[in-house]
Amino acid sequence: MITISTENLTHIYSPGSPFEKTAVDGVSFTLTGGEVMGIIGHTGSGKSTLIRHLNGLMKPTSGRVLVDGEDIFAKGYDRRLLRHRVGLVFQYPEYQLFDETVENDIAFGPRNMGCGEEEIKRRVARAAEFAGLTESELAASPFELSGGQKRRAALAGVLAMEPEALVLDEPAAGLDPISRRRIMLDIIAYANQTGAAILLVSHSMEDIAAYTTKVAVMRDGRFVMQGATRDIFSRVGELAEHGLSVPQVTRICAELGCGETALTVAEGAEAVKKLLGRGPL
Ligand code: ADP
Repeated sequence: MITISTENLTHIYSPGSPFEKTAVDGVSFTLTGGEVMGIIGHTGSGKSTLIRHLNGLMKPTSGRVLVDGEDIFAKGYDRRLLRHRVGLVFQYPEYQLFDETVENDIAFGPRNMGCGEEEIKRRVARAAEFAGLTESELAASPFELSGGQKRRAALAGVLAMEPEALVLDEPAAGLDPISRRRIMLDIIAYANQTGAAILLVSHSMEDIAAYTTKVAVMRDGRFVMQGATRDIFSRVGELAEHGLSVPQVTRICAELGCGETALTVAEGAEAVKKLLGRGPL
């Protein structure tokens, strides 16, 4: 299982110039296969800059990125292989779809990795299954698909590389609630079935609460809170100091004095029923 960690990772844009900007400032964390980590924080807090370091796309100004304990910027480290192991899904990845059919688009990664035709077929089929794409969707042009289908096609393109870690920047942004839930469940299913590590950047507190196991709060390039998801969302006042909210169901339960922090509507309903003395569902 993969382990990705950063040690005092710092990234300064345009150092020494009048435009110098410290975007990431001494960030340390560890993410292991099986974990789903969320990163939350306002626009400009450094989330995108941070995640671009995790597959070697950006180089730290100082500090280190370690994968399985090895410094990915050490001399001789195979960063090309690393990009296959750590899949980065940018915002609106469907803009990168380009081929004539969805199937060809998904095959692009494995083909580029040098896989044989049989292996490419196997990977495309598996990725399509994870992303819930049908035969007819695979045969279609990416431009004929709906927004949700396009997003799942783009995700399948990354899953076909069979990454051991998936780093996603707002994977559900701009989708309707059903497509949103669907893509999140696809990602979690991939993690559960393969043991991959997931790093999820999102502005949706509902998604972070529902799907992650741990959370880091980023502000001005720093991790100002870090811990298990339930613990982080129980610190409502502290999150508010950083300008962040909790899911509405979490807040209602906190205000009702339900005790245990509720992260989802199902948990909230359970907690309220207990409070009303009706016992568990
Ligand atoms: P987030 O993903 O949380 O919105 P970013 O990592 O995009 O944050 O940005 C962090 C800070 O770095 C912001 O102040 C942003 O303006 C700045 N920044 C981002 N990209 C660049 C760049 N290419 N050159 C200079 N500054 C940048």
